[in-house]
Amino acid sequence: MTDDANTEAAGRSADADSDGRSADTEVPGRSVNADGRDRSGDTDPAARSADAVDVSSDDSRSSFGAAADAAVPPTDTVARGTDVDADAADADDATPPLRLANVTKRYEGGGGTVTALSNVEFAVAGGEVVAVVGPSGSGKSTMLNLLGLLDDPTEGRVELHGTPVAGRSERERTDVRRETIGFVFQDFHLVPTLSAVENVRLPTAFLSEDHTDRAVDLLERVGLGDRLDHTPDELSGGQKQRVAIARSLINEPDVLLADEPTGNLDRETGVSVLEEIREIAAAGVGVVAVTHDDLVTGYADRTVELVDGVLDDA
Ligand code: ADP
Ligand code: MG
Repeated sequence: MTDDANTEAAGRSADADSDGRSADTEVPGRSVNADGRDRSGDTDPAARSADAVDVSSDDSRSSFGAAADAAVPPTDTVARGTDVDADAADADDATPPLRLANVTKRYEGGGGTVTALSNVEFAVAGGEVVAVVGPSGSGKSTMLNLLGLLDDPTEGRVELHGTPVAGRSERERTDVRRETIGFVFQDFHLVPTLSAVENVRLPTAFLSEDHTDRAVDLLERVGLGDRLDHTPDELSGGQKQRVAIARSLINEPDVLLADEPTGNLDRETGVSVLEEIREIAAAGVGVVAVTHDDLVTGYADRTVELVDGVLDDA
């Protein structure tokens, strides 16, 4: 295992190194009822939810599994009773896991200053899926990099569970990123020589505890229980993205950041990946997806639009 491989698995982070994070880090205050609103009309979220989450129900070590477990008995509530529970959930969970507070980002370059983001206010709540749309050059990648703690704003604050990120050391940031945020990319970013299970557990390679069982659970959860030992070249595009999604969940993130998650998928495959993303949100994870794809916005609770670095509700 090389540092390079780990870096690649961890996404864009150039400083993904070992960490001493304990595998049983607390589950954040997720409320499974914070969301689960009816989103597509033509699917049965309750059925899919129960179907997808019971795989990890006997894994007491798995916090994501535990969160998913919590979603199982009240699945009907999750799927249908959301309006009733929304207020209580909001009160319990008022602090969003990730927030941009009046953020401006400028790049200084040879050609002068580019204002990539201008006074952006944005927060993602646990359990919601937010689509971020906007033309090329409008600041989407910049926004995702800031949310992913991969870059700092010029002005304003990035807050994690209400606490500003600024001032943390690179090492602390790496740890907190790994504990809090999962990344999914358009082109999957899988290591070609590793099997599905090895790819999924890769971000935990430097932890003392073996995460193979959890990797298997997650792969089963995304419908790849029969592809555990396949390498990426033996998987379809949709299967590769499911492996990448499973990997993004290995550290039980609060937020999933997705950069064009369906960009390389045909429509049908994209739908299945988006349904998987909905399941993840139903278990309490906040999802931010940057996209050009109308399909994604159809699965989002909310769509915001960037135009020349200014964010508006779409
Ligand atoms: P999008 O992802 O929506 O295409 P970006 O966030 O990549 O937009 O870019 C927003 C603006 O910031 C663009 O004008 C882009 O040229 C500029 N930009 C992005 N990254 C850098 C950088 N590292 N240095 C200078 N300018 C940059
Ligand atoms: Mg971009």
